[in-house]
Amino acid sequence: MDKRLNEKKAPALARGNGSAHIGNTYDYLPEELKRIFAEAGEPAYRGLQVFEALHKQAVSSWQEATSISKSLRDSLTEEYPLDSFKLKGSLKGSDGTIKLIFETKTKDLVEGVIIPAKYGPALCMSTQIGCPVGCSFCKTGQMGFSGNLSAGEIVLQFILAERYLKKPIESVILMGMGEPMLNFENVTKALEILTHTNGRQLSSRRITVSTVGFPREIRNLATRKHRYNIAFSLQFTSDETRKKYIPVARKQPLQAIFDALEDYYSITSADVTLEYVLFEGINCSNHDARALSYLARWGFSRKINDPDYLVDFFSSGKHMQQLFTRESFKINLIPYNPINTDYDDIGGRAASAFKSPSDDRILDFLNIIKRCGARVTLRKPRGRDIGAACGMLGRIDGNRK
Ligand code: SF4
Repeated sequence: MDKRLNEKKAPALARGNGSAHIGNTYDYLPEELKRIFAEAGEPAYRGLQVFEALHKQAVSSWQEATSISKSLRDSLTEEYPLDSFKLKGSLKGSDGTIKLIFETKTKDLVEGVIIPAKYGPALCMSTQIGCPVGCSFCKTGQMGFSGNLSAGEIVLQFILAERYLKKPIESVILMGMGEPMLNFENVTKALEILTHTNGRQLSSRRITVSTVGFPREIRNLATRKHRYNIAFSLQFTSDETRKKYIPVARKQPLQAIFDALEDYYSITSADVTLEYVLFEGINCSNHDARALSYLARWGFSRKINDPDYLVDFFSSGKHMQQLFTRESFKINLIPYNPINTDYDDIGGRAASAFKSPSDDRILDFLNIIKRCGARVTLRKPRGRDIGAACGMLGRIDGNRK
């Protein structure tokens, strides 16, 4: 037995990568844990044992990790408690949706949502505490921004949700509080941990990363080991309207975002979905439906705007249809979820400007898109009665209780 273990000391783990919060053992990949143990003079394989205990066995206390020596378990229990990020409460909706409220070590609250689905439960997870983007139709966007979640805190939402449900979560959507691309390193690391062969081994095909549109990060995501699906929160088909409601749209024009999405798709072949929240009188006219269909089908294709490319293309004897080889991006229509519900005391500060269109208008909008030949689904609102539906997460009067 080595001296450090006799002294009941766990290796000194560094702080989380770029996180506003103190890191924890969930923040690390096996390679990092192995290095940390090796640098502490321990056999490197202990790092792997620790990773497997946390992610494959999903232990809730170090003492459950029986593959680890008793002395190390005692040491880890003393130095690295596993409850620095915990489930603080839950709310069950009438449609089976469950909102989970998590508390960070710094007493900030973030939310996740378990959504019953045909192929097993899906989990909508948060990536930040609040959101710096500040979309005017989103409750999270109204609560301000307190910091990034660490990779471990993102992963723990998944672990705690499975522990709560007592069954596996089948898919993950990073569409809770925060903009994943603005916490890029921690988010991609969390996904690496969740998909790791020595851990939970969640399939990357079951993971969707949502974004309001950051071209550089979209391209960067395409270079990662796994291919994740992307959901682009489009919401409006012109830059002019987007800029009114999504502050970052002033810096990120649709042309650049669609170019990045086209690149992402051509590199990964992963699903790219256009999320489109329907707001009465703002973005649900017949013209909007056609513009949306066009974007889903053709994007802002650079090819059709480039005469040199077209000359080369047709000179080679190809046909017009071959210009566009991909299927339409899928459109996901989401009737706006009003955020001034009376499930708690938040009031409706940001709600007054927005309403969901009538059912007839939604149906007409859907049918126009179908006639235009784009792939489209209409999302049934889930968890509205518990403030868990899309755009409803967070407290606009501050997130600390
Ligand atoms: S919609 Fe997304 S990006 Fe916009 S404020 Fe809400 S969480 Fe942030």
